[in-house]
Amino acid sequence: MSNVIHLLTGRPIGSLEEVLPAPGECLPCFVGRMVATEGCTGAMGWVEQFRVHRAKRATALVRRLVTQGACCDCTLVDAVWQLSPGLWEWTPDGQLVPPLEAPPCEGVRPNSTQPCAHWVSPSELAM
Ligand SMILES: [Zn+2]
Ligand SMILES: [Zn+2]
Repeated sequence: MSNVIHLLTGRPIGSLEEVLPAPGECLPCFVGRMVATEGCTGAMGWVEQFRVHRAKRATALVRRLVTQGACCDCTLVDAVWQLSPGLWEWTPDGQLVPPLEAPPCEGVRPNSTQPCAHWVSPSELAM
């Protein structure tokens, strides 16, 4: 058992490595994974966590995402990026829906704040 309390969620966590981006993991995959396992921070806490560990120099990242419609971690995945329609699944009643869990990240270059191939912007989807 660990008595480490997570800085952002105030909940105990197993190890700090669990809340760090995996090597090559992209921003929306990381934030989506954190929101699913740890919950939304109510702000851009996971985005900032990603930036500090993976893209320190991207100081305008949060501001850029806010102008794209995100206001917290969980709105990032939806407002700014959505899972590619190629990954969506049919429900038994014939509706095409995004998968509950994103597949493992395709990987991006170090220091990149771009999403991997799993993600598209909603404006691309509309076209
Ligand atoms: Zn949220
Ligand atoms: Zn990814």
